[in-house]
Amino acid sequence: MGKNNLKPKGLLCTYAAGVLYERYCELKGAEAAEICREFEIIVRASAKLKPTGGSLCFPTKEREYYLLEFSYQAMLHELKDFVIYHELAHFFLDVGGVPIPKNSSLEYWEQEAWCDNFAFAMLLFRFGHSLVGDANYEKFFRSGEELVGADKRDGDIGIRLLVYCEVAELVYSSGELPPLFRLAQEFLKK
Ligand SMILES: [Zn+2]
Repeated sequence: MGKNNLKPKGLLCTYAAGVLYERYCELKGAEAAEICREFEIIVRASAKLKPTGGSLCFPTKEREYYLLEFSYQAMLHELKDFVIYHELAHFFLDVGGVPIPKNSSLEYWEQEAWCDNFAFAMLLFRFGHSLVGDANYEKFFRSGEELVGADKRDGDIGIRLLVYCEVAELVYSSGELPPLFRLAQEFLKK
């Protein structure tokens, strides 16, 4: 029986939201690469991943450290950061007792949503937006749990970024799109 079965489903989701909120409070404002250094996670670019993809490899007998990968096609600094924050969320959940569920199970997509929301909170904080606090953290980290599939999740990230840009009334006067718009485009590309 896996750890997941020890807690009723709703309780595990609430617990996971709490784990991520605690890490957010502790680390908000920190660069993704800085956090990886702090936790001794090795980061590298991979030729195997799609531009918005990432992966977290657990320590093995031969390799004692966690290895975090982003796509070498992730040219945009904000995209790289988003992906790294997302993978860091998997790491924090794992060390907090919520292991990554089997690929493509419903629980897997739920965890994907939690990790995307962690990435949102961390990245947007660096742009001056606080999305999450004591009053809304469970609702915030669990939003989008019902979205199954990589295409659905990417589309949702893109659209939410556009909404945040609009709320923040970002304008582009310099001739170049603001980074969060460009990040949204990456997720909305087909
Ligand atoms: Zn993930």
